[in-house]
Amino acid sequence: MAEKRVAIIGGGAAGLMAALVARRFGAQVTLLEKNPRVGKKLLATGNGRCNFTNMDLDLGHFHGTRPPFAQGALSQLTGAQTLAFFRDLGIEPREEEAGKIFPASGQASSVLDVLRYQVEHEGVEVVCDATAKSLIKNGDEFTIHTSAGTFNAQAVVIATGGKAGPQFGSTGDGYNLAISFGHRLVEPFPALVQLRLKAPFLKGIAGVKFVGQASIHQGHLLINQAEGEILFTNYGISGPPILALSRTAGEIQAQHKEALLKVSLLPNQQTTDVAQYLERRFREQGTKTAEFSLVGFINKRLIPVLLKEANIELKEKAARINTIQTAALAKLLTAWTFTITGTNGWTAAQVTAGGLDVRDIDSQTLGSRLVPGLYFAGEIIDIDGDCGGYNLQWAWSSGFTAGLSAALYAT
Ligand SMILES: Cc1cc2nc3c(=O)[nH]c(=O)nc-3n(C[C@H](O)[C@H](O)[C@H](O)COP(=O)(O)OP(=O)(O)OC[C@H]3O[C@@H](n4cnc5c(N)ncnc54)[C@H](O)[C@@H]3O)c2cc1C
Repeated sequence: MAEKRVAIIGGGAAGLMAALVARRFGAQVTLLEKNPRVGKKLLATGNGRCNFTNMDLDLGHFHGTRPPFAQGALSQLTGAQTLAFFRDLGIEPREEEAGKIFPASGQASSVLDVLRYQVEHEGVEVVCDATAKSLIKNGDEFTIHTSAGTFNAQAVVIATGGKAGPQFGSTGDGYNLAISFGHRLVEPFPALVQLRLKAPFLKGIAGVKFVGQASIHQGHLLINQAEGEILFTNYGISGPPILALSRTAGEIQAQHKEALLKVSLLPNQQTTDVAQYLERRFREQGTKTAEFSLVGFINKRLIPVLLKEANIELKEKAARINTIQTAALAKLLTAWTFTITGTNGWTAAQVTAGGLDVRDIDSQTLGSRLVPGLYFAGEIIDIDGDCGGYNLQWAWSSGFTAGLSAALYAT
């Protein structure tokens, strides 16, 4: 009997995994990729080093409208199985801080090289420069119209990614293919991305870096917080804790509500303790100007901005700064509050929050509940992960699940 055909649309992390697994489970597989080569985004991951999974894959690291949905695929290809899969391909894992796993080579390109080799070695037909334009189903057969011709298959996996990083090929095309069959979309927004802030002085402090704490608030309510290296930029703020909080900010803004960012330059210090310290410092440095009295305590580029915000004249003698001004400065140092005007756009985002509504997808097979034989994998689905290898793990696990299910359906 002739092998049945599975077509995979999108040759990113999820599509490559789905193609390989579908092939291993006996299907004849065609992988259709829009770019001249597969896996362009993989090369950019982990700053070129590819943080491909994490030792701690607790479900709490995955997000979406219904995060438990992710468990179905994550338990079909676990973290340990992912490490074994890549070891088998030649990728020796190396653990770094916070359980992050990178290839020992330190090169994202090595992950892509072994995947490309394996896919071709095991007989997957890879067709590049093939942008899928439409997908239709007639009887038991799907027809995919692409810029490189028409392809038929009994089962199809859509793994076209979300909208993050359109420069790598993911421009949200898969949403339209799925919507054409009646799938619902949870409005996508950029995540793991820098925040834009409303403040007139940003250009003056752009480039200032510090280890601090950041938190997102809705009115008086603390919603989420993170610590680490923070960087002011001319549009707002960046750094790992900011990227980690960007999803929360995006979610609040998607509800058309105001999100506030509070930044502490002195993490884990109480405002009252800082005020007492400043009072003592201003007494001891009393003959100096307010501006000079803070040199050695606060980054010099921040001093004029903070003093202005606290209503303190730069040239005022430190001894003359009153308690109200000191309290205002202490508040700024421990909870500098900014209105978030938005996030940077898709080009800067590492991941897409939102995507295909999981209510229309079976969590165990990643099959469409609307169209038999249609499967989804990767970032196109309304699941995203924290920074730290979680998004690629989702791509591997969901690619594995969808590839396996598609092969079993087709054969
Ligand atoms: C700069 C950057 C760094 C990152 N670093 C990490 C990291 O270190 N660790 C981590 O876990 N995650 C990281 N991520 C996130 C991770 O890369 C993605 O979540 C993951 O690659 C998503 O895989 P995917 O296969 O679902 O989608 P994608 O990788 O986006 O692949 C989708 C593929 O489909 C193709 N395609 C799109 N439309 C069509 C069409 N119409 N026809 C045919 N093909 C199409 C695209 O060209 C693309 O090749 C990073 C992301 C970025 C942008």
